Amino acid sequence: MRTAVHVKRGDTVEVIVGRYRGKRGKVLRVFPKDGRIIVEGVMVAKKHMKPNEKMPSGGIVEKEMRFPSGKAMLVCPRCGRAVRFGHQTIEDGTKVRVCRHCGEIIDKA
Ligand SMILES: [Zn+2]
Repeated sequence: MRTAVHVKRGDTVEVIVGRYRGKRGKVLRVFPKDGRIIVEGVMVAKKHMKPNEKMPSGGIVEKEMRFPSGKAMLVCPRCGRAVRFGHQTIEDGTKVRVCRHCGEIIDKA
């Protein structure tokens, strides 16, 4: 079963498989329907542009492509590792994300 996208926009993630393995970047966009994310600096495709008003001579634009969120893990801001995390409800009823490695609360879920 494919699970939903486990990370949020603004999260820092590390790619765990493929040619971008080990690369870290910020999640720029999340596509829950297809389980994909766009991460800053990951899966960058070069696109050749025809000349237009902005770029009179045309050129190459670099653009991040979507890739499966399962190929990335959240980087814990506390311990700095690519980690699995769980969800917990704290005393006041707030749901939080908790690092499975160091046990620290990462943020509100
Ligand atoms: Zn941690």
